Amino acid sequence: LFALDGFTGDVWVNPAEKVRQEIREKREGWLAQRAKLMETSQALCVTRDGTRVEVVANVGNAADARAALRNGAEGVGLLRTEFLYLTRETPPTEEDQVRSLVEIAEGLAGDGKQDRPIVVRTLDVGGDKDLPYISMPEEENPFLGVRAIRLSLKREDLFMSQLRAILRAGEGFNFKIMFPMVANLSEVLKARQMLESAHLALEKEGIAHQWPVETGIMIEVPAAAMLADAIAPHVDFFSVGTNDLTQYTMAAERGNPDLAELADATHPAVLRLIQQVVEAAHANDIWVGVCGELAGDQMGAGLLVGLGVDELSMNASTIPQVKAMMRAVDLSEMQTVSKEALTASGAPAVRDLLREFLEGRV
Ligand code: PEP
Ligand code: MG
Repeated sequence: LFALDGFTGDVWVNPAEKVRQEIREKREGWLAQRAKLMETSQALCVTRDGTRVEVVANVGNAADARAALRNGAEGVGLLRTEFLYLTRETPPTEEDQVRSLVEIAEGLAGDGKQDRPIVVRTLDVGGDKDLPYISMPEEENPFLGVRAIRLSLKREDLFMSQLRAILRAGEGFNFKIMFPMVANLSEVLKARQMLESAHLALEKEGIAHQWPVETGIMIEVPAAAMLADAIAPHVDFFSVGTNDLTQYTMAAERGNPDLAELADATHPAVLRLIQQVVEAAHANDIWVGVCGELAGDQMGAGLLVGLGVDELSMNASTIPQVKAMMRAVDLSEMQTVSKEALTASGAPAVRDLLREFLEGRV
């Protein structure tokens, strides 16, 4: 017999009755709290003083999309398309991709509402995530290598097939397209040009597809954050990927447990970049979301809204909790805390600030 505490990661082998009882109680408490949160999670997310915050989900397959709907997501802020590519020996055909994307869109439209926004991110592989059917040279630093949009722009055959599939699957739904790991305006312009070509080709072939389609980029590379004002006029939205943005800003690999403190997205250096991105977006009348882990972190979510972020995209399971937290705070308070966080000494100091701010509220 084993026992596992999912909060702490502690595992017991043949636990004593006392331990079993404690774990059972903890689980029941958690389930009761969760059931309570679920009662209000379908309602829109509004702060105590009436500011609307859009709360959407990160998904990778149809089961995730159904979970998003159940947990009260207003849409999908990040559809990771990697799963379509990673689990096979040969590239998926355009038809395969259309089928999978439609299945996900239908999962989110389980109640018949087909116009929920779904932000589809184009392929983010390469680097440390190899595809068996793409031969790539070994790289010394895969995270700094031919990843994501860099790979898509090198492999136009794969990219074009994906863009066509997304546009076709979007027919009758409300898809938006997002390019990952952008570092430069030229990448955005090239990718948009290819998207336009995909549309023109489908039109010429008489194939039904969604057009127009809102097009945005992920802000994950510090260069893109710093150039946000130059890029904003060329896109419809930004979505900040705090996982990678933190890794590249702090030069601390995201999966390395020894660097956990450095790789914390609440670090003021990362927050200052996000602030810059929000300002550039709003000055150009486009919206900005966050789809990295920080958005679903009860502490991080308030910080981001305080910085002016319009949309938070997170794992479905964290939605009820984040919505409940937002309802317990005022926008002006979050703005004050965020401002203070920008000049804090580091991530631990920011976490202290947030703990103090949230204490007794949720
Ligand atoms: C991110 O980098 O924050 C992000 C959301 O993308 P991924 O986690 O898929 O790299
Ligand atoms: Mg990323």
